[in-house]
Amino acid sequence: MNKIAYINNEPHAFHDGETILKFVKRITGQDNIIPTLCDAPNLDPFGSCRVCSVDVALEKDGNKKTMASCHTPVTEGQYIYPNTANVKKLRKNIMELVLTDHPLDCLTCEVNGNCELQDVAAQVGIREVRYPEGKNHLDRTKDLSHPYMTSDMSKCINCYRCVRACDEVQGQFVLSMAGRGFDSHIVKGQDVTFMESDCVSCGACAQACPTSAISDVFQSKAIVAEETTRTICTYCGVGCNLEVSTANGEILSITAPYEAEANGGHTCLKGRYAFKFYNHPDRLRTPLIKRNGEFKEATWDEAYDYIANELNRIKAENGPDAIAGISSARTPNEENYLMQKFIRAVVGTNNIDCCARVCHSPTALGMQRAFGTGAATNSIEDLVYTDCIIVIGANPTDAHPVTGARIKQKFMKGVTSIVVDPRRIELAKYATYHLQLRPGTNVALLNMMLYYIVSEGWMDETFVAKRTEGFDELKAELMQLDIDELERITGVDKHLVKEATKAYSHANAAMEFHGLGVTEHSQGTFAIQLIADLAMITGNVGKRGAGVNPLRGQNNVQGAADMGAQPHQGAGYLDVTNPEINHRYNTFYKAEVPSHVGYKIPEMFNAAIDGDLKALWIIGEDVVQTDPNTNKVKAAMDAVDLLVVQELFMTETAKHATVILPGASFLEKEGTFTNGERRIQRVNKVVEPLEGTKPDGQIIVDIMNRMGYEQPDYTAEGVLSEISEIVPFFAGVKWKELGDNGKQWPVKPDGTDTQILHTEEFKRGKGKFTFFEFAESNEIETHGKDFPYIITTNRELEHYNCGAMTRRTGNVEILTEDVLLINPEDAKKEGIEDGDFVCVESPRGKVDIKAVVTDEMKPGVLSSTFHFPEIMLNIITSDEHCSEAMCPEYKVVSCRIRKSKGKHKQLAKATAERV
Ligand code: SF4
Repeated sequence: MNKIAYINNEPHAFHDGETILKFVKRITGQDNIIPTLCDAPNLDPFGSCRVCSVDVALEKDGNKKTMASCHTPVTEGQYIYPNTANVKKLRKNIMELVLTDHPLDCLTCEVNGNCELQDVAAQVGIREVRYPEGKNHLDRTKDLSHPYMTSDMSKCINCYRCVRACDEVQGQFVLSMAGRGFDSHIVKGQDVTFMESDCVSCGACAQACPTSAISDVFQSKAIVAEETTRTICTYCGVGCNLEVSTANGEILSITAPYEAEANGGHTCLKGRYAFKFYNHPDRLRTPLIKRNGEFKEATWDEAYDYIANELNRIKAENGPDAIAGISSARTPNEENYLMQKFIRAVVGTNNIDCCARVCHSPTALGMQRAFGTGAATNSIEDLVYTDCIIVIGANPTDAHPVTGARIKQKFMKGVTSIVVDPRRIELAKYATYHLQLRPGTNVALLNMMLYYIVSEGWMDETFVAKRTEGFDELKAELMQLDIDELERITGVDKHLVKEATKAYSHANAAMEFHGLGVTEHSQGTFAIQLIADLAMITGNVGKRGAGVNPLRGQNNVQGAADMGAQPHQGAGYLDVTNPEINHRYNTFYKAEVPSHVGYKIPEMFNAAIDGDLKALWIIGEDVVQTDPNTNKVKAAMDAVDLLVVQELFMTETAKHATVILPGASFLEKEGTFTNGERRIQRVNKVVEPLEGTKPDGQIIVDIMNRMGYEQPDYTAEGVLSEISEIVPFFAGVKWKELGDNGKQWPVKPDGTDTQILHTEEFKRGKGKFTFFEFAESNEIETHGKDFPYIITTNRELEHYNCGAMTRRTGNVEILTEDVLLINPEDAKKEGIEDGDFVCVESPRGKVDIKAVVTDEMKPGVLSSTFHFPEIMLNIITSDEHCSEAMCPEYKVVSCRIRKSKGKHKQLAKATAERV
């Protein structure tokens, strides 16, 4: 039965736990019926400023008590009077007191016209301030130390919103309040500047601040925008919604919509601030054709003719399988769909792949084998419902920062938490258990966990009996394991593993997240299948707060695979070798699509070097910088007759191109991105493409037509409609019905979407258990003796992948170079000090890189990034790969180290010049 409370003596039903503020706003439909200052949509109620005070009585017109509405829950039979003369007077008085300590220079203030303080002062009717001026906020020193964050604390009203945003949203605890009374003031860290503090530049404080006390260099709260456009971040798989302000066709600033389901008013610095690449002078603005070793400007027609002639020639002379394409996980679904359609239906080969190959191909394959589909089983929203989180081989606070911040919040609030990672990553510092295994031993560690679950009887027998198959075989294998041997292999105390396993298996709902630390191994697919085993054996699939949840790397890597940018499955994960499917594609595309599997990316490189692949078309992937074994990749690029590169910038790969086609960035085009939780969201065009560039989808359509295939001009709506006809789980996806928050696939024809997969039965019917024995990586077996250290690669918060975009933004002032993380014991043994340059040598080559000595690393294990081309870390990485999915083994690279001799001086100079 509805519980009733009264607003101005009128009865209304309220929700359990609803605050008076929310209740009154909901019932009246007026967002500002009660003025507020310290309240903010994405922060917990605080009740500090009391501006939201209302009168409350226990009976009609009874004795009234004044209460802060933002944090007082509604109770049954309460009589609420939101705007009595009493509370109006109180609010006015509070505002006068607030204003005594705030400069009244509104006309010249950055937020004039968009200042919450100004609005509330007007709303409560302030005309004068009767109290003497406070002294604290007369300090007009501005903090301009940071490339993005700014502060002018004279404008601070001590509402604590910035402090709470830093604590509750980001979990960084950089901001705090110092002093008392009029001396109260916000400080950063130990009262240092933004740049000196531990600020991660997420901008949550700037967005939360109701005045201009904390802001950013883009003055994101100033009202100079002519238009705002909602779109989706292009960097990582979280898929944050962005509100982009523009004027005169230029981007001014970006904020985060509070009601966005993917990010709830939060972003990291990449989404909010790293947008200045879009009109950077380095952008490519005209097609280029390499003639006699030099790039020459060309018209689009010349470039198209050149490409079409070359592709036709190569196809005639060598057959369609001599041509291949690598699509981009950073471009929308529609463009990926067109790219794979072009390669399949126009060229006539299945030689199409995307960067999922080098990141989550083992996830897709392993989860398809176990569950029937390779995508995340749950939604990020499920973090609210979980009581145990296990993070395996992922560093989300750096690589998926908004989801990472949400996971960190859960860790800090005491949910049972397990981190499996060779590094003591940020989350490990808050985790209940950190299983710091040796790189490459995930399979051994997961086997230990499965062994304990079975041997201790911690499994969910009902789930296993009803929903799965293969358990008896799994059990028989597990019971043969030598746990002491696995302890030796992993380097993790078996008692600790047992304790963590007990915690995971005893949780009501345990949620698993994993990243490239699981997939980028020779046993990557096997580890994924064991993770699926772990979830199934404990009944953690198909329900809220549980599941297996890959943290997808690039923003649309889920979508690129969904759209068929892979050689064995076409659009919608349909098997290209199945005659019925083949017939279906042929009929739909009105073309002859082959029924044999095409090349995966590493096979493309091998085929190029062997002379079997003659043409390669790459969209938005800098394979030279980011794929392993750089020298081999370069050799492959140089071996083909035709290398077409569609790009924003002259990347390391583009330098090897025969033809470069200047594409448009995500801010200049429309389409949809699918984030890591299967959420298909609309990418809306914010500004026109830079002169001379074209949306990648239109480029592909142009070349399809040039080669005789009739494909209508690119519109996101048109292509999405075509996709919905061929991709079964897109059946109900319609451009106009996606709304602001998109839909999570599968989307039924009636438009109903799906938050949790496998609730009743698995996509494949029964979930399949499989056992895999640990096998040492070939890299260690072959080279471990001469190259005794293991280097793993990782990502840093400030940069994305090859860094082509982030290095052209203020991010480069925050993180200026790739560094080598090394344990203090190892550093001492090798005579290396913090800041020294180190020569890291593997069987493939060597690089010089600056050392950072840190106990984050285990002895014998090193770590670095490949964001900067002057280091080219992938010169040393190995092209060993997952035996099943061909994902390269970036995480286990044998190497040796010594202090550098000379090359480091050049590197130091390159870094200094860039900064
Ligand atoms: Fe969000 Fe990821 Fe973009 Fe950061 S990079 S704003 S976390 S989508």
